[in-house]
Amino acid sequence: MELLINLSYIAASIMFIYGLKMLSRAETARRGNLLSALAMLLAVVATLLSGGLSFQWIIVGLIVGSIVGAFAARVVKMTAMPEMVALFNGSGGIASLLVGWAEYQAEPSGDVFRTVAILLAVFIGGVAFSGSIVAFGKLSGRIQGRPILFRGQHLINAALVAITAALAVLVVLNPAGTYLIFILIALLSLLLGVLLVIPIGGADMPIVISLLNSYSGIAASAAGFIILNNVLIVAGSLVGASGLILTNIMCKAMNRSLTNVLFGGFGATTSTTTTAVQGEVKAITAEDAYFILEAANSVIFVPGYGMAVAQAQHTVRELAELLEANGCEVKYAIHPVAGRMPGHMNVLLAEANVPYEQLVEPDDVNPIMPTIDVAVVIGANDVVNPAAREDESSPLYGMPIINVDEAKTVFVLKRSMAAGFSGVENPLFFKNNTRMLFGDAKQSISTLVAEFKEAIAA
Ligand code: NDP
Repeated sequence: MELLINLSYIAASIMFIYGLKMLSRAETARRGNLLSALAMLLAVVATLLSGGLSFQWIIVGLIVGSIVGAFAARVVKMTAMPEMVALFNGSGGIASLLVGWAEYQAEPSGDVFRTVAILLAVFIGGVAFSGSIVAFGKLSGRIQGRPILFRGQHLINAALVAITAALAVLVVLNPAGTYLIFILIALLSLLLGVLLVIPIGGADMPIVISLLNSYSGIAASAAGFIILNNVLIVAGSLVGASGLILTNIMCKAMNRSLTNVLFGGFGATTSTTTTAVQGEVKAITAEDAYFILEAANSVIFVPGYGMAVAQAQHTVRELAELLEANGCEVKYAIHPVAGRMPGHMNVLLAEANVPYEQLVEPDDVNPIMPTIDVAVVIGANDVVNPAAREDESSPLYGMPIINVDEAKTVFVLKRSMAAGFSGVENPLFFKNNTRMLFGDAKQSISTLVAEFKEAIAA
């Protein structure tokens, strides 16, 4: 039986790895997701059959988890998905902390390896949990998005890590007699999670979310070492590693180093821009915008968080089809940090059945931007802010953006002149070739669609 279970674990691990690989390409991503879900099912069934388990608690957990999951899937809006992801990361962290705590209580006098694994699961799990709760608060606007900085912050964090390490040594030396110290380590990890995330603000949240995701995986892997479950070790390591890869991708997308994100206090001064934005805002009506689009040979849509808020993706695809029928070439430029979670725009556009071939990355589209007739910015702001390129004093300076301002004409669809997530003003709105199409993005695009249909019918 044990052999069968271990073989199932190996099969599940291989399926996880293939599933992850398939997730890296849009065309195979759905099948990759399904394969990974099947792997998880296999791992769960094998673990249940491994014996020595109390089924009544597993059933209670299953029922409670299913109710919460089904409720969340129905009630949580697409725009609140990033907050959900933060909470899921946090749940992974607290689960590992609780496994570590329960195992310590059940048998505090284990060997050094086991004690170290318990301490790592508790410490990393605690940091992932409280850090994710702060990230959730920031993303949902319950906690101010701007960095919370105070004097000696890094010193305090370093001291906390050093104290925790020293306390951990005491627990390793005498696991049975140090219960209170163990609890103190758990509390310090929770405090550290909060202190590590509060100084990170503005546009750097994507990096923090990926990093916390990675922490929750590492904590799960440590929990796997405690209960000696091979598939948990593998799955946790995969989450930890892929979270780190994603963190790296996000850092590159924002042209920032991880150290700079973690210790830089980005966005502390973002409420004002140092250079005055010059130029005049030129508004356009949807009816006038239609005439320009009707004559365009090439159009690039640049979706952002506002498209998610407006739920405009289906209408955008409809407009794209009408443009194509009119002989226009259409593409969608996706910035890696557009929206509020990695892959946010890809998810929305896939939901609207936008063909994958039409999605392009900033590096591919920026060189041809001057040849594009119209760039239509749909509820994006920070990811098209030219200050990132032009204004050295801007907190966004250095972040690669989609250079829509270099297109022949730019339409910016948004409701007001308000700043984006980072709080930085956007000089794009004042450029000569920019036209502001004010209003809810879905409403504006629907009007454009109606104009096209009317023209076809006439
Ligand atoms: P931004 O947050 O910069 O801007 C979104 C814009 O959408 C706002 O300016 C808003 O303007 C507009 N908007 C909101 N609702 C609507 C609506 N119904 N119709 C039309 N427009 C609307 O979005 P971007 O996608 O450009 O940039 C993402 C930002 O979020 C970056 O700073 C990124 O770092 C950050 N972030 C990204 C994460 C990720 O993983 N992708 C995670 C966390 C943060 P108005 O109110 O005037 O309508």
